[in-house]
Amino acid sequence: MMMSPVEFFKTLPKKMCPECGQPVKEQAESYLMECDRCLSKKSE
Ligand SMILES: [Zn+2]
Repeated sequence: MMMSPVEFFKTLPKKMCPECGQPVKEQAESYLMECDRCLSKKSE
């Protein structure tokens, strides 16, 4: 039996932005915890 994609992602711990609590997109080259929105705020 194959796991559906939804079930598969449910088993993964979601990365959350500590600043705003939004789910952060997993990026292979990203080592940062904050989401894009908070990162752009900080760079201003
Ligand atoms: Zn954020």
